Amino acid sequence: MDDDEARFRLPRTVVPHRYDLVLEPDLEEVTFAGSETVTLEVVEPVDEIVLNAIDLDVGPGRLEGPGGTLEISTIRLDPENERAHLLLSGTAEPGVWTLILEFRGKLSDQLQGFYRSTYTDDAGVTRTIATTQFESTDARRAFPCWDEPDLKAVFGVTLVVDDDVLAISNGPEIGREPAGDGRVRVRFADTMAMSTYLVAFVVGPLEATQPVDVDGVPLRIVYRPGKAGLSAFAAEVGAFSLRFFADYYAIPYPDAKMDMVGLPDFAQGAMENLGCVTYRESLLLVDPDKATQPELATVADVITHELAHMWFGDLVTMRWWNGIWLNEAFATLMELLAVDAYRPDWERWSQFLRSRAIAFEVDALQSTRSIEYPVRSPDDASGMFDILTYTKGAAVLRMLEQYLGAERFRDGIRRYLDEHRFGNTETHDLWDAIERATGEPVRRIMDGWIWQGGYPLVSARLRDDKVELGQRRYLISGEDDDTVWDVPLLVRTSEGTEPVLIEPGGVSIPAAGDGQVVVNAGVHAFVRVEYDDELLGRLTADLRSLSTDERTQLVDDTWAAVVAGRRSAVDFCRFAESFADETELPVWQSLLQGLAWCERFLTDGPREHFKSWIRGLLWPAIERIGWEPREGERDLDKPLRGALMSALGVLGADPQAFGMAMEIERESRGDGQVDPSLAAASVAIVAAGGTAEDYGRYVEAIGSARTPQEELRYLYALPDFRDRALIHRTVERTLTGDIRAQNAPGVLARAVANRDHGDHAWALIKEHWDEIVSRLAPTTLVYVADGVRFLSRPEQVEDAAAFFAAHPIPQSALQLQQTLERQRVNEAFRTRGTPDLMAAFSAGPELD
Ligand SMILES: [Zn+2]
Repeated sequence: MDDDEARFRLPRTVVPHRYDLVLEPDLEEVTFAGSETVTLEVVEPVDEIVLNAIDLDVGPGRLEGPGGTLEISTIRLDPENERAHLLLSGTAEPGVWTLILEFRGKLSDQLQGFYRSTYTDDAGVTRTIATTQFESTDARRAFPCWDEPDLKAVFGVTLVVDDDVLAISNGPEIGREPAGDGRVRVRFADTMAMSTYLVAFVVGPLEATQPVDVDGVPLRIVYRPGKAGLSAFAAEVGAFSLRFFADYYAIPYPDAKMDMVGLPDFAQGAMENLGCVTYRESLLLVDPDKATQPELATVADVITHELAHMWFGDLVTMRWWNGIWLNEAFATLMELLAVDAYRPDWERWSQFLRSRAIAFEVDALQSTRSIEYPVRSPDDASGMFDILTYTKGAAVLRMLEQYLGAERFRDGIRRYLDEHRFGNTETHDLWDAIERATGEPVRRIMDGWIWQGGYPLVSARLRDDKVELGQRRYLISGEDDDTVWDVPLLVRTSEGTEPVLIEPGGVSIPAAGDGQVVVNAGVHAFVRVEYDDELLGRLTADLRSLSTDERTQLVDDTWAAVVAGRRSAVDFCRFAESFADETELPVWQSLLQGLAWCERFLTDGPREHFKSWIRGLLWPAIERIGWEPREGERDLDKPLRGALMSALGVLGADPQAFGMAMEIERESRGDGQVDPSLAAASVAIVAAGGTAEDYGRYVEAIGSARTPQEELRYLYALPDFRDRALIHRTVERTLTGDIRAQNAPGVLARAVANRDHGDHAWALIKEHWDEIVSRLAPTTLVYVADGVRFLSRPEQVEDAAAFFAAHPIPQSALQLQQTLERQRVNEAFRTRGTPDLMAAFSAGPELD
């Protein structure tokens, strides 16, 4: 350990083996008291014990050992390093000792550590829940501990709570006795040896379903009273996942029970506490008859993701926070595999391309990062929870899985988990295990993808009877960069599909006749492809011969070339016209996302002509699929219809779509059955063209929503109203607490993205920045900043840079830098793209 490292890593002179924790939360006073008995091993003689604690009153305490008792004479708190130094009355010699320590704290309002979440019950009374969120380093806010992932220990938890509330923790309840004053002591079974960040307690006025028996594991859904009717889908997906993963990993589920808890306030999406997984309500509780397919799929995604962690993350854990990326990337890969197995007709991998497109955007910036990097401080670690970790990480694992073959890859995973169970690992332990299982040079291939930022643009050029495949790093700036990769991908020609490894110097393959050449067939490699005009012409002449994924990626690659200035936005509009017969959702989503940017750059007459052109583009597509759901249609046709209608109403400002949306939106809040996709699209359309009166109805709808998904549809539509006064009201609602802190970042970012009044939202955010900082979970602040990439005028770019220079977000410094760089990219794009677009749409709604 060097000095800097010693600042963030506890000395290994004392290591814990087991914690017996007693916590007594007081929901009225919003405080808690606790005591712990920690069985620990003194490795070298010590005069003090150093462990983590922050925002706690610590003491008194003592250390008991074979040789007698040492008092803790002085307790020195070191808030800067989040530590407590317990000075002993004598020297503790090596051996097993017991630390007995008391502590007290306040339940936090910042959604971290041991914190308070509230809801209003049917009688209008505010009810309080005390719950935890410890990852990465906030267990130390709830009890003094060795808060590092490799210091695994067994946890025996006891909660002293009011008799009438639900209390749960990682293990099943094994004992309950009166504690006086109407309170009970609830004891939970010991956990396996695990990291502190996975400990959880939840106490409050909550209910649980009857347990479902999943091959011997009782599974319950926990929710606030009144929401029992929204729990069946989560139970079904939970049961499916536990079985799917036990089979995939070939290891039984590592805890004795599973509770999945929906919480009214939660900073992240969900948290993989062993046996006590916590979620935002909207990511757990859902009514399948009222939810859109994407809303349902999101719930399935999150549940499978968290349950994948029970093995990969909880049973086998990273040694230090640099391993966060693998933990999250792998769980994301498993989420996709599991949801794909649960509902193959949802074509989950095709939808993944949409999130992958965002990772491509970030990873094309100068300020991107390598997936893995050295991590010292907790802030370094919190910066790792981003799209590069989750999405690019999962994408490169998928690339490896497809290159090796799914079964061989899985065999490597089984070997890795089996070898390291209850232990901690480094990334290369995984590569080595897969390498041993497959005999392939996994570590060499993966190192290039993990330790270098960015990704290659693979170029395909026709030269006589050959296609030359080259690679160079893809940077939006277009700057030269000599980073290279081993790129394993598939190439399809009329002769068949062949694996090709593109090495740094490039490779040539035979071009079969005058037919198509599809580079990165199946779209598993994390690369963009740039075809020369001849090859691209052959592809667009026969789009139906490409798979959905290949068409989606073709659109995304083409759009990326527009943003980077290698194609014009007008070209993209022409290119979009060649998709007249398109029937697949992700392809349309990719097209519409680009076209929405074009609309932002247009004003006056050309803007009207563009809208009319959009209507011409979308009407045939929507007529083909029908305005109403049809008997026997695919599940995915519903969100496609919703996406087309929404674009027609918002981007195309189509009066007929608006009229329909007004009707459907009203109807959808009644008792009748309205297709959820149409209802969701209507909420968006009405907001974009809505009045103050509609806004008032939306605010009411949020309060009376029957499902969390319905609530969010209305909530996230508030910042879409294109009215300055309404934008003002929306931002205000995030400050007054009318909008929960967990949802405020998304609402604020979207307000800044407002097509017409984003600048006003941004001015308000700047004015109230200190309030926002004090109200929101620190890790979510950077999502507020994310909105500024939509402010693409030169003076706005300068303004945002100056503001964040004065108001840095240290825990998310790099993500903030990326947002600001994207804003500059968009500025250049606007400057370059606007004149062409204005000219192209000046005469009328036709492109020549
Ligand atoms: Zn995760």
